[in-house]
Amino acid sequence: MGIVIFMSFLGKDFEMAQECTHDCGSCSSADCNSRKGPQKDKLHEKSKIGKIIGVVSGKGGVGKSMVSSLLAVALNRAGYRVGILDADITGPSIPKAFGLKSGTVEGDENGLYPARTPGGIDVVSLNLLLPDETSPVIWRGPVIAGTVKQFYTDVIWDNIDYLIVDCPPGTGDVPLTVFQSFKVDGVVIVSSPQDLVAMIVKKAANMANMMEVPVLGLVENMSFVRCPDCGKEIYLFGESHIEEIAKEFGYPLLAKLPIDPALAALVDAGKIEQIEKLPVTDAAEAIVAALK
Ligand code: ADP
Repeated sequence: MGIVIFMSFLGKDFEMAQECTHDCGSCSSADCNSRKGPQKDKLHEKSKIGKIIGVVSGKGGVGKSMVSSLLAVALNRAGYRVGILDADITGPSIPKAFGLKSGTVEGDENGLYPARTPGGIDVVSLNLLLPDETSPVIWRGPVIAGTVKQFYTDVIWDNIDYLIVDCPPGTGDVPLTVFQSFKVDGVVIVSSPQDLVAMIVKKAANMANMMEVPVLGLVENMSFVRCPDCGKEIYLFGESHIEEIAKEFGYPLLAKLPIDPALAALVDAGKIEQIEKLPVTDAAEAIVAALK
């Protein structure tokens, strides 16, 4: 008999196996089932999603939405049907990167229909539901978490192979809701060299472990700047320690991305899909392989 600990998030209690003498994951006994964490929310009856990938970070501004968008573009180019669920509800990064306008996510009595990017990626973001993209979202955590849940349960995700969930930074209400309510298949942790990387990776990894979601790997963004004249890599924020951290935790280092002014300009113009040299093609391939 394993030890069961009770946890309470968002007013909901659920129990998790802390220790067991056999593999609860492949056991169908009622006792073990009761320890496999909370029941996941149900998708809309017309939705079909292959794998769900959560993208998380310790703090804002490290480029988590950038990495979510780039991974979506890479998977789309590899021929998969891709969706992005923008759970980072207070900022408009995802719609902006793809040039999507407010009011393009529409609904009827059957459910909500995602906006579609020129390249064919389905996107749902609160900013696309607002009548005006400058409307501020002044909601408390539980209301935001409820909206994110609806993006899972009420949206018609049409034959999606990979759904990327862009989580808000940290381990607050919304990331917990995502892990607690969505059937997440794996997480990608994004950090930048000036973060307290070890601590952030540890926190995110602890959350993923508690929710029994595998960590697919790490992406370091804003790692360096490449000199446009000589091509030398300049480590603006000092030496990166991401390789050591990846080794220490036993996670793959999926990518180290430079600060790229051309990429920033594409994002500002809403044309991220027009990027020529995608820096996350190998990372996307590794994720697909890990989720097979
Ligand atoms: P987060 O989702 O972590 O808050 P964003 O993805 O919104 O961060 O990125 C913050 C800002 O930095 C955005 O303006 C984005 O375009 C820019 N940015 C992110 N990564 C890069 C990069 N590798 N090169 C250039 N600009 C970047």
